[in-house]
Amino acid sequence: MDNSTRIALLPGDGVGPEVMDEVRPCLAWAEARGRRLVLLDLPHGADHCLATGETLSEAVFLELRDRCDAILFGAVGDPRLPDGRHAEQILLRLRQDLELTVNFRPCRPVVVGSDPTIDIEVFRENTEGPYCLQGTTEPGRAVDFAIHTEPAVRRLLEAAFQRAAARGHSLTLAHKANVLKHGHGLWMRVFGDLLALYPQVVAKALHADALLCALVQDPRAFGLIAADNYLGDLISDLTAAYNGGMGVAPSLSWAPHHPFRCNALAEPVHGSAPDIAGQGLANPVGMFLSTALLFRHLAWEAEALALEDAVAGALKAGAATRDLGGQLSTKAMGEAVRARLS
Ligand code: ATP
Repeated sequence: MDNSTRIALLPGDGVGPEVMDEVRPCLAWAEARGRRLVLLDLPHGADHCLATGETLSEAVFLELRDRCDAILFGAVGDPRLPDGRHAEQILLRLRQDLELTVNFRPCRPVVVGSDPTIDIEVFRENTEGPYCLQGTTEPGRAVDFAIHTEPAVRRLLEAAFQRAAARGHSLTLAHKANVLKHGHGLWMRVFGDLLALYPQVVAKALHADALLCALVQDPRAFGLIAADNYLGDLISDLTAAYNGGMGVAPSLSWAPHHPFRCNALAEPVHGSAPDIAGQGLANPVGMFLSTALLFRHLAWEAEALALEDAVAGALKAGAATRDLGGQLSTKAMGEAVRARLS
């Protein structure tokens, strides 16, 4: 039987292909170290949609779901398709239909000048909340529904409690149950259940507004933060600011209940950044660190550590793109990282 790991590469739009090009050689490097890999390159994104009318066909979705182990994703979003529907039908569909409930967004500063004592991990629910894309626009009225289901909330919080227990870190739930009584009321109830099951975890629930204030005042006071899709999106962009901003932050999504063969999607936290696309200005570090998270998910710990060390080494030596105050192009930054891979 072929025991290769099958990874689909979906560079997408804007800066997505630019940062993806920088990590491709890392896959060849992993292969040269003995990892058995089969790569599937997919063109889906705005260009493909404009040329063919296709976003993500059912056949491609099933190929990903049933015949791939993981997806390495760049970014989607293009000003030529302003309603964002192709992005919904590609990225949000993959997150939802692969049931990738957990979106893990660590913030462990490596950028020169950032505070190395900060160590925050955001666990963002990735498939529901207000991003369920259900709502209506009527004359004089607009409605967005937010759906929260107990299985997804429980999966996300269980993953967060397990991680907090394993790392000996505190866990904070961000919520607004005082006003979002139904949805966030459910989060509070499940959080309470799990609190009783994990007495070793120092855990508390905070109103999200108060949490954001405390997070800015003293980020070192936080360990893990769990949140629904919307709050987690906001909070993790804030934590990205503690480590150089949007170009640096990585993420990995997975399904703790393993519903399908494809059980991981690694993507940088940033979007397609149309304002800098095509100019060689994008920082590839978020993409490198997302690839390292994917390696770790595949239990390739040595490769994950080597890639993280290569990134840290390059940054420490002064390699920096414009967003970090440097002069390097996307390619030169990529080379600076890869040169440190042994
Ligand atoms: P999304 O909603 O898809 O997350 P967004 O609209 O929040 O996307 P981004 O595309 O992430 O926005 O861009 C936000 C800002 O961060 C922009 O100013 C962009 O230039 C900058 N940015 C994003 N990615 C990078 C990167 N890799 N390197 C440098 N700057 C980046």
